[in-house]
Amino acid sequence: MAKTKALAPEISPLRTKSHTGWLQPPFIRCAVLAAKYGHPRMPSRPAIHRPQGSGAADRARATRDRERQALRPSPAERGYDDEWRVARKLHLLANPMCTVPSCTRSATDVDHVVSIAERPELRLDPSNFRSMCHEHHAQRTARDQGFARTGSLNAVNAPQRGASHPTWLGPSVVPITVVCGPPASGKSAFVQERAGARDLILDLDVIASMITMRPIYQAPASARDAALRWRNQHLKLCSIRRAWPSAWLIVSEPKAPWREWWATTLKPTRVVVIEAPADACLARIWADDRRPEMVKRVHADAVTQWWADYSRRDADVVLRPGHRPTTGLALSRT
Ligand SMILES: [Zn+2]
Repeated sequence: MAKTKALAPEISPLRTKSHTGWLQPPFIRCAVLAAKYGHPRMPSRPAIHRPQGSGAADRARATRDRERQALRPSPAERGYDDEWRVARKLHLLANPMCTVPSCTRSATDVDHVVSIAERPELRLDPSNFRSMCHEHHAQRTARDQGFARTGSLNAVNAPQRGASHPTWLGPSVVPITVVCGPPASGKSAFVQERAGARDLILDLDVIASMITMRPIYQAPASARDAALRWRNQHLKLCSIRRAWPSAWLIVSEPKAPWREWWATTLKPTRVVVIEAPADACLARIWADDRRPEMVKRVHADAVTQWWADYSRRDADVVLRPGHRPTTGLALSRT
């Protein structure tokens, strides 16, 4: 008798009082999933079954995602029209190889270095084009979209600004070294001497020159935003998978609290500060032929500003050119 009772809900769940109790757990899961991911095939009325504690922020995000999807303009509205198709074809003819460093595939896609949403006027500007193989273009698109969700993009065509300190980064699974110091203090040289051939080096000057295809220090200031986003995306990748043996992040970061922020956010192997004296940095800047006059002046000011802003942090590995590190940490390649 007791056995029959215990089985009752399974045999005939309908009309028994335990019906709701029996059906609820998977239903709650549906509602949680729908609230979290906005799955299109989920029941259309999750609100009724919405459990407490699934998070107001999650629900708001799901709603935003759905609205964004519904409002997303068509390809033509987003700027991919006949004119674009011709410009694209011409670019591919002139630039038939994928531009991703070390990729040897032929290009099938043309990528906008700065997105159309951000700079609509550069939609047909060949200087904003970059040939890519299908795989690399798909990776970039996926990253951009993934990052748009985790970033602060909250309107369909809102520009995605590159943040100096993106809040959505996480600890790096790639061993990473953060190298700080004033302009011309030798940060790049420090990294070049220690990085392996397959390491990821994130230096805004180099990135800006790469994505604009201009010599180093000659990228327009407007490229900074795209360079920041490229850098941030790669830092994000470092928190997802070990795609590189190790990584090196070059930032000026004179203020101890910001170096602390990087230390907390990325959990780097070490934070190195190169305390190169201002006069040595200035001398190097003025003697550097790669820096245009204007850039020399900006960098010289930045050296003075760096030293005015500089504060020490106990956990940093401090290098004074010509001196030994203040801590016993090995600085050789990891
Ligand atoms: Zn490629």
